[in-house]
Amino acid sequence: MTVVQRWTMLSLTSKVLVGMLFGVFTGLLSRTLFPFDPFVTTYFTDGLFLVIGKIFITCLKMLVVPLIFTSLVCGTCSLRDATSLGRLGFKTVGIYLMTTCIAISIAILGALLIEPGAGANLEGTSTFAAKEAPSLVNVIIGMFPSNPVNAMASGNTLQIIMFALLFGISIAASGDKGKKTADLFMSLNEVMMKLVALLMNIAPYGVFALMARLFTEIEFGAIANLAKYFVLLVAVLITHLLVTYCSMLKILAGLSPRVFLRKMEDAIMFAFSTASSNATIPISMETVSRRLGVSNKVSSFTIPLGATINMDGTAMMQGVATVFISQAFGIELGMGDYLTVILTATLASVGTAGVPGVGLVMLAMVLQQVGLPLEGIALIMGVDRLLDMVRTAVNITGDCAVTCIVAKSEGELDLDTFNNPEAATSEEKIDVHHLNVAETS
Ligand code: ASP
Repeated sequence: MTVVQRWTMLSLTSKVLVGMLFGVFTGLLSRTLFPFDPFVTTYFTDGLFLVIGKIFITCLKMLVVPLIFTSLVCGTCSLRDATSLGRLGFKTVGIYLMTTCIAISIAILGALLIEPGAGANLEGTSTFAAKEAPSLVNVIIGMFPSNPVNAMASGNTLQIIMFALLFGISIAASGDKGKKTADLFMSLNEVMMKLVALLMNIAPYGVFALMARLFTEIEFGAIANLAKYFVLLVAVLITHLLVTYCSMLKILAGLSPRVFLRKMEDAIMFAFSTASSNATIPISMETVSRRLGVSNKVSSFTIPLGATINMDGTAMMQGVATVFISQAFGIELGMGDYLTVILTATLASVGTAGVPGVGLVMLAMVLQQVGLPLEGIALIMGVDRLLDMVRTAVNITGDCAVTCIVAKSEGELDLDTFNNPEAATSEEKIDVHHLNVAETS
């Protein structure tokens, strides 16, 4: 069997994993064998890898707005009782906020115990300008779009969700007269899911290019200086993923954490390599609905909402970073300050979308609230790219875990699909030479 034949027989998960490992290897090799070589930099690092990686991320982002809109309209237009939506909303937001508070509390406790900032060397260079933390009032008002087209053009997820919900409810309320619009959206949703499947086929190459470029360029020196901070943050992130989410799945929904984690592999790898919860929305949606058996009614609402308001990994970084910076600068924080950190980090995660690096912007808001110097951010910036990847994986795992819990409690989770290890394991192959087969044959 040739290498190409073997490659085509692999599952998508294995292909993405191979792409990722091969990318890391290529990056490390190129920085070792050709450090700063202008040819390699021009044609590979900033050439081929940049182009493929950027196209991959752009294609994922391209899916997000139409996918959220069509699937959420589909989810709501089949509703018989719009009040169930209110219950779903309260439950989801409640659990999202609860997990974020638990996450940041674990992070702060871990950091107070290990003291990562004690004796840290203070070599902050760049300065950081903080934006104001969004107030709860503004976050709530900002959820309503004055112009839905504008909301879609700017990718404002909360506003798109709000409009899609109202639009879907109105279709349902229109009865027979709204049927055609409902059918149109059902069909659009099918087409969007096909588009996701189509683009998944380029994922292994996209992931390879992203990793190859990142590992050629990334500064490893900073990690050695901040080893305690780095290891502690990774440890609390993994603890939250394995302990908090897994016990919640078991206790609140009676679901097997092992099955859940196994089926999350693809989504976790995507989140890890893109460092963006937003760009991972299509894969998270596909995972919870096709592999974990959550109905579209729940997943179309909880996943985009989670990618925007539920960023536990990011909140944990802010908890550890705040303690780290306060220790590094020798500034004591009291109980009240820590409560402020929890509140601000939670609010900041509600008001900011999940895109790469946004955690640092949110950290600036948190530091400002408790009067810590913003130069502290420069201390940890060097290691943030790698940590961003890990925390994004935690962010989306949290969204999917809460989605399963909410779906189970609403009777919207198909247990057979959840427990079936084979459910949607093979990627949907799209034969580009024989499109429209059903109609023409
Ligand atoms: N990259 C993260 C996300 O998209 C946000 C962050 O922590 O910077 O979820």
